[in-house]
Amino acid sequence: MAKTEPADLPLPDAPQRVTLLKTPAQFPGGADLDARKAQSLQEPIRIARVPKRLYVPLSQHIGEPTQALVSVGDKVLKGQQIARSLSYISAPVHAPTSGTVSDVGSYPVPHTAGLSAGCIVIDSDGEDRMADTGLRLASVLDADPAEIRQRVRDAGIVGLGGAGFPTSVKVNPGPGRNIDLLIINAAECEPYISCDEALICARPQDVIDGIHIIRHAVHARQVVIGIEDNMPNAIRCLQQALSDGDEHDISVITVPGRYPAGGEKQLIYALTGLEVPSQGLPIDIGIVCHNVGTTAAVARALMHGEPLISRIVTVSGAGIKRPGNLEVRIGTPIAELIEQCGGYTEGVARLVMGGPMMGFSLPSDQLPIIKTSNCILATTWEETPPPPPAVECIRCGKCAEVCPAILLPQQLYWHARARDFDKIQDYDLFDCIECGCCSYVCPSHLPLVQYYRFAKTEIWNLERERQQADIARQRHEFRQQRLEREKQELEARRAKAKKALRPKQGDADAKKAEITAALERVKAKKAARTQPPGNTDNLTPEQQAKIAEADRRRQSQRNEP
Ligand code: SF4
Ligand code: SF4
Repeated sequence: MAKTEPADLPLPDAPQRVTLLKTPAQFPGGADLDARKAQSLQEPIRIARVPKRLYVPLSQHIGEPTQALVSVGDKVLKGQQIARSLSYISAPVHAPTSGTVSDVGSYPVPHTAGLSAGCIVIDSDGEDRMADTGLRLASVLDADPAEIRQRVRDAGIVGLGGAGFPTSVKVNPGPGRNIDLLIINAAECEPYISCDEALICARPQDVIDGIHIIRHAVHARQVVIGIEDNMPNAIRCLQQALSDGDEHDISVITVPGRYPAGGEKQLIYALTGLEVPSQGLPIDIGIVCHNVGTTAAVARALMHGEPLISRIVTVSGAGIKRPGNLEVRIGTPIAELIEQCGGYTEGVARLVMGGPMMGFSLPSDQLPIIKTSNCILATTWEETPPPPPAVECIRCGKCAEVCPAILLPQQLYWHARARDFDKIQDYDLFDCIECGCCSYVCPSHLPLVQYYRFAKTEIWNLERERQQADIARQRHEFRQQRLEREKQELEARRAKAKKALRPKQGDADAKKAEITAALERVKAKKAARTQPPGNTDNLTPEQQAKIAEADRRRQSQRNEP
């Protein structure tokens, strides 16, 4: 692909410069674990069969759930959007195959607490007919970054490393925030999980195309692929693809294979020596990090028009007859996937989604694969023996020694147990990446991560309740203000109407003058009638003149012959 910078776009200010270390640094803490990836890497990626019925959850990501756009009986095409996002931090959902919607309702979903949630159930018609998604961009590296972000959002892409944060948000640095370094996270550090390694070996060009698209969208100055040194095949495939394409400005840097090297903050530290601030984001130090699978998904969407309707899933563990990596449609029941891997072995004892360190136990295999399902692990008791009963903390401090986030896990445990949710935040609970290293080494076998997850969930719930109470209080205050304003307006209208009914001052004065004049006339007439003849002292000159005139006429009448 041509790497062009659109001439009509304003380039952001010079970003904060990040320098890559010549020798990767060792992040604090961590653990050396047996990788156990070979069993799932014996074969290339297999394409899983499309099941007859798929259960597609409305929420498969961090953020707000989506809203269904289809109803029972609707026909859908593969790749058609079937649920839309209602908020910025969310990702739409697409039909994994063509068929008919047979239900929209609550079904069990993969969740740490074993919850049910809204799902769209699709009965496949077996034809797998593709919709025209409109996601493809003809010349993607000439496109406006805003257009790229919109298409990434429309494609429903979320972080495929396990967290599930909407990718459209991560490719939007926001005004005034600049990216100097784009890190592609290929350090797949958790035991058993090999889906990223399988993807790199099978489809390195998708990874590289996706890197160029994301780099263009965020205007990153430099790009590095961080990968563990115990993934030689993947390293070779990447280097080969980069040299074939003459991509000299994308470097591949290996980091020591120590768990959790694939943690975002740990990989950034290993490559740059920089620490992401507590409760901050990599972007705060001019860095953005994307999983290698997410990168390939971006290329599939914008160059081939394919929304996120499938992903590579590692199916592994001694409890599986034929482990491997499979490309699986979202919504496929785990039981069907396991069946395609030869089924369970005799001694299977435990089913986990994710890896043995960060994954969570599943109560059943009648649950669907979702966008964040990187691994299905079925183990035997010999392989992962059940932990002995937990006993009291002996304050040995081993948990703090291995914590890669430099926290005090023992203190976090005490405050979570005491439900002291203010205090636990003083100990930076939200910097905990739930890597499980502390639980792994704890001689008292305390399920420490479960305590941290519980505390985080409680704090989020309290925060949500507080926000709802704030909204209710604001609504009440607005209502009171509105009622008071309406009352004042009513009073003002009444006063105005009253005033309009009163006679005007000019009219009143004229009336008064008229009455006064009338009274004056009456008074004058009365005075004229009571005046003794000849006495005109109290009369006005006009009255005296009239009387004199009348006397003169009477006199002259008398004198006439
Ligand atoms: S490792 Fe376990 S026993 Fe030791 S201090 Fe930590 S929580 Fe307590
Ligand atoms: S789970 Fe959390 S507290 Fe425990 S070691 Fe990992 S980051 Fe530290």
